[in-house]
Amino acid sequence: MNQLIGIFGGTFNPVHVGHLRAAEEVAEILSLARVLFVPASDPPLKRDGDVALAPASDRFRWVESAIAGNPHFETSDVELSRSGPSYLVDTLQLLRSELAPAELVFILGEDAFAQLDAWRAPELLPTLAHFAVVTRPPGSAGHSLADWLPACLTGSVEVDSDGQLARHRTAGHWIRRVPISGFDVSATDIRGRVRDCRSIRYLVPEIAREPIEKCNAYRGQPT
Ligand code: ATP
Repeated sequence: MNQLIGIFGGTFNPVHVGHLRAAEEVAEILSLARVLFVPASDPPLKRDGDVALAPASDRFRWVESAIAGNPHFETSDVELSRSGPSYLVDTLQLLRSELAPAELVFILGEDAFAQLDAWRAPELLPTLAHFAVVTRPPGSAGHSLADWLPACLTGSVEVDSDGQLARHRTAGHWIRRVPISGFDVSATDIRGRVRDCRSIRYLVPEIAREPIEKCNAYRGQPT
């Protein structure tokens, strides 16, 4: 059987303990050989100016320092080294050829999965990788993947009767719901705390806490 490599994409604006714990649990549950964290350089869905976005190089550095020491975690600068918007479809195509014959498992939260229709070429995504959809506290809207299945996938994937696994009809990749204990933490909440000069201790990895607190982008008005 081919190795499975987790790909954890996100804005990581900033990285927090919810991300780290999700990656750790999914790697253990699915026996992933390793997890690549792929910070988005220019996230297309977070460009409206209403969100305080830290520079990509800072977000990347925070992730790098946060995962240092975990032998199963690595960062990939594949999205930083490409100009223009960071589309997952491009990233998966590139990583697939780089990492073959390993198979990719894209890791994302239920909230992100439910919004897949808004991503570029969403119907192609499950033809390029397996998907691990992790539960995200405080609670999901449903316990079956069918409750979360984005419209773009309804024709191309078949959900098992227990609602925990779906298969792409032609590509053979799976989409698996992965319940994790997880933390009810979001980057939006952390940016709000930095803006309001409140503590973020224990919400972000300690090694990155000071640089995050000092980030100018978070000290302005929007979060
Ligand atoms: P924001 O609050 O700015 O929207 P975020 O906290 O959702 O940010 P992202 O970097 O956008 O963080 O998330 C990257 C991926 O990690 C997404 O798939 C998201 O669903 C998942 N994720 C984020 N926080 C958690 C968490 N606490 N538990 C499980 N998954 C999470």
